[in-house]
Amino acid sequence: MGALRPQTFDRAPVWLPPSASFPSLRFDNSFVRELPGEADTLRAVRGVRGACFSPILPIPVNGPRLLAHSSEVAGLLDLSEADCASDAFLQIFAGNALLRGMEPYAACYGGHQFGTWAGQLGDGRAIGLGEVLNAAGQRWELQLKGAGSTPYSRSADGRAVLRSSIREFLCSEAMAHLGVPTTRALSLVSSSDRVVRDMFYDGHPRSEPGAIVCRVAPSFLRFGNFEIFAARGEVEILTLLADYTLRHHFPQLGAPSPETYAAWLTEVCRRTAVLLAHWMRVGFVHGVMNTDNMSILGLTIDYGPFGFVDHFDPDFTPNTTDADQRRYRFSNQPRIAKWNLVKLAEALFPLVRSIPALEEALAVYTATYEAEESRHYAGKLGLATVDKALLDELFQVLALVETDLTLFFRCLSDVPVHLGDAASDEALLAPLADATYAPQGQGQGEGEDPSSNPSAGPARARTVAWLRRYGAFVRAEGRPPELRKARMDAVNPKYILRNCLAQLAIDAAEAGDPSGVVELLDVLRRPYDEQPGRERFAAKRPDWARRRAGCSMLSCSS
Ligand code: AMP
Ligand code: MG
Repeated sequence: MGALRPQTFDRAPVWLPPSASFPSLRFDNSFVRELPGEADTLRAVRGVRGACFSPILPIPVNGPRLLAHSSEVAGLLDLSEADCASDAFLQIFAGNALLRGMEPYAACYGGHQFGTWAGQLGDGRAIGLGEVLNAAGQRWELQLKGAGSTPYSRSADGRAVLRSSIREFLCSEAMAHLGVPTTRALSLVSSSDRVVRDMFYDGHPRSEPGAIVCRVAPSFLRFGNFEIFAARGEVEILTLLADYTLRHHFPQLGAPSPETYAAWLTEVCRRTAVLLAHWMRVGFVHGVMNTDNMSILGLTIDYGPFGFVDHFDPDFTPNTTDADQRRYRFSNQPRIAKWNLVKLAEALFPLVRSIPALEEALAVYTATYEAEESRHYAGKLGLATVDKALLDELFQVLALVETDLTLFFRCLSDVPVHLGDAASDEALLAPLADATYAPQGQGQGEGEDPSSNPSAGPARARTVAWLRRYGAFVRAEGRPPELRKARMDAVNPKYILRNCLAQLAIDAAEAGDPSGVVELLDVLRRPYDEQPGRERFAAKRPDWARRRAGCSMLSCSS
């Protein structure tokens, strides 16, 4: 269990003296200052009552090595490249050293996992270090993931393996550059300590390299932070936490009252709808949309067995743990977010005290999602407004043959639909040739009818018919072709973090070479730009990735 081991038995991180070798960050730890926490600093696993957090220190690691860092996130903290290259930076973000002003803690939260109330969960391997106020007056909380066990670690070890840390580090930054709300990642540090994981829970544990990611966000509060106190009937703490959240993260809503709490829930519904519409527009599948993985700020949080859709498949989930039920499949995400918001609304009932008010807030989710979805698809098609029937038919066409969702939209801007009847069928289809996967049974795997080849038969005819119909809308709007292309390319990414790309970077990093992580991070900085010479990062999923663990199959083991 790792339980019953007092913290005094652990190696403890050192407190760095105030020195010129690292900037003194300005900490203002509102969460631990303004909310009730445990007095107990033991590491023992336990049910935590009457507290929003437990004070706990990271456990130092051996052989820390900085594999990558995000210059953009360092900039948010007013840290220079020289600061990031310092030994102090490495030791701090390995969990080996602490800066004056840090007050490390693990938060208490619960959650609904796969549709069932799971009781107390909490930060089992994430340790908050403190909240930095930057020169611009922004508040950024620092959190180490994989920094050692906490009272919430249950039977697990509090550590994270390198492969999942690379995935979280890269995807946090990739999503930010795509324009999707997300927690950020400052650093990726590996250690020489090994971590044992049974990747597919099939009795084949192996020892893997461990790593620590420093995540950065205004707050890591989740729906589950509120649910736990509602579930336990601890309404006083629920109120303190809600008021804290309003004060620091939704100050525009005003002083706490039943109406303000309702307005806050409405805003969470709105932000969550905005978030989900973004996920769907870029083909992101979170994989584990439990309520403990839903941010109260509407950020993407807790990157685990996530994946971007390669070929369009509404039923796709990268998470083998969910392979039977597919609760968190691509097409189900917007519905699940609503389900999760219902659970949050139930938790906030003691504050809002009006079912119609909760229902009104939840209705905002649906209305916002629909509006955002239309807006995004209009943009993706280069139109001012999108026709629902045109979109429905598009998704049917995309499903006729295996079509890469990202490449289809990226290449669509080159299809000369504006020419109308002057464009031949071949001219219309040519730019899309790269977006389809070779039919299964023709060198890519077993199965399927080769007549489904897009370059022949009924699939081809339907694709051409859709393109001509789309062309009629394009011509009716009359936007010049170059403008349509510019508008489409600005919202349809060329570069996404495909699982196969992440896996290649992981393979090399596990073998000691992290340069692939750094290069991929750089590519993903400009997802909408052409980036000549880097086309291999924009290629569709290679055949080897179809069934390889880490590419098409992931589990919660991380
Ligand atoms: P996740 O599936 O990563 O969102 O985690 C669900 C719960 O399990 C959270 O309370 C995590 O903190 C906890 N957890 C996941 N992995 C570990 C680990 N290696 N050590 C301790 N707790 C963990
Ligand atoms: Mg989680």
